[in-house]
Amino acid sequence: MNDNVLQKLKTLAKSAKYDVSCSSSGTVRQNSAGGLGNTVGGMGICHSFSEDGRCIALLKIMLTNYCIYDCAYCINRRTNDIRRATFTVDELVELTIEFYRRNYIEGLFLSSGIIHSPDYTMERMVRVVKQLREVHRFNGYIHMKSIPGASRELIDEAGLYADRMSVNLEIPTEANLKLLAPEKDHRSVYKPMKYIQQGVLQNIEDRKKFRKAPRFVPAGQSTQMIVGATDERDKDILRVSSILYQQTQMRRVYYSGYIPVNSYDKRLPTLKQAPLVRENRLYQADWLMRFYQYRADEIVDDSYPDLDLEIDPKLSWALRHPETFPVDINKADYAMILRVPGIGVKSAQFIVMSRRHGRLNASHLKKIGIVMKKAQCFITCNELPTFTVQEATPEYVRKVLTEPKKKADGGQLSIIFPD
Ligand code: SF4
Repeated sequence: MNDNVLQKLKTLAKSAKYDVSCSSSGTVRQNSAGGLGNTVGGMGICHSFSEDGRCIALLKIMLTNYCIYDCAYCINRRTNDIRRATFTVDELVELTIEFYRRNYIEGLFLSSGIIHSPDYTMERMVRVVKQLREVHRFNGYIHMKSIPGASRELIDEAGLYADRMSVNLEIPTEANLKLLAPEKDHRSVYKPMKYIQQGVLQNIEDRKKFRKAPRFVPAGQSTQMIVGATDERDKDILRVSSILYQQTQMRRVYYSGYIPVNSYDKRLPTLKQAPLVRENRLYQADWLMRFYQYRADEIVDDSYPDLDLEIDPKLSWALRHPETFPVDINKADYAMILRVPGIGVKSAQFIVMSRRHGRLNASHLKKIGIVMKKAQCFITCNELPTFTVQEATPEYVRKVLTEPKKKADGGQLSIIFPD
């Protein structure tokens, strides 16, 4: 690798690090004779996360960090005086192949600033992924950002080479997007999302008829919202996510705690650090919507607009709805068991399956892996005394679960039943 490319690599990898919308789940492309890499199994697992939850093991890089736009929250905005660079298509392709061969990476996450126009930029990005797939027969994972405002033809072409595509919404409401990124609007984001969705649906139909029809964005699409740069409440953010999951078959919405990189801009809040706890609570709430059958307006609504930062959203919901509990583990339906704090999806499935063979008691639940400390005030079952959240009061249960080491009333706080 020559010094020029190395310098570009340093610059463009640094510029790309603020985008969290990369994940490689959900695609299954096996290696083929004469091909390079694969996306499944052992050596082909191409996603990995660093301790702070950011995706690694992909070459996460920008084609260019020049940009004609001036989004207030972005390090690469036009008016920032930063080191700039642009890869040629060949340079980026060779770099990816070289890194893959050296086992540094298992795939590529490709984004870009906008040069000249959305289509001009997108066309170069498409050439990168096309060359990787068609010339080098690269079978590793590719996540490609779509440029807001790019044309349908380019998105349709990109979708044939990328495993996942994403268009970042960035700011949940149009008014605040206009405030911070005057050159963008939601339309330019929703349009490419729709193209990708339609391409995916069409591809499902095509593959029913022709098994060998080329796949289109097999790992689906994702998006990212920045949290804390504007004044949206959690209810606004989760409402948007819920609509995206329902209407665009979005695979993942990523929440990126706002990192104050342009603190000189008076439109931005003066945060000392990214709101990471809030970001984490949003991910938990998102999880509840996707896997626990909660609606967004059950988790947060007008009367309860923000997530509780001290406790997780599932426990928070349970403490606000003590009338729903206790849940009888031996009789309740799956959906209700899922709502018990301390019981996950796998445990709930296991409970429903196991109770066909006999009534479950507390020791069975412990063996299944239920977090009894959390669950015990929300359930009844054989042998478990009925001291429920209603009797203990939600306030007391919350205290026990959040302040386990504090003394209260001169003694150790505890719920009556041992773990
Ligand atoms: S368009 Fe993208 S790269 Fe350009 S300033 Fe806005 S967020 Fe940054």
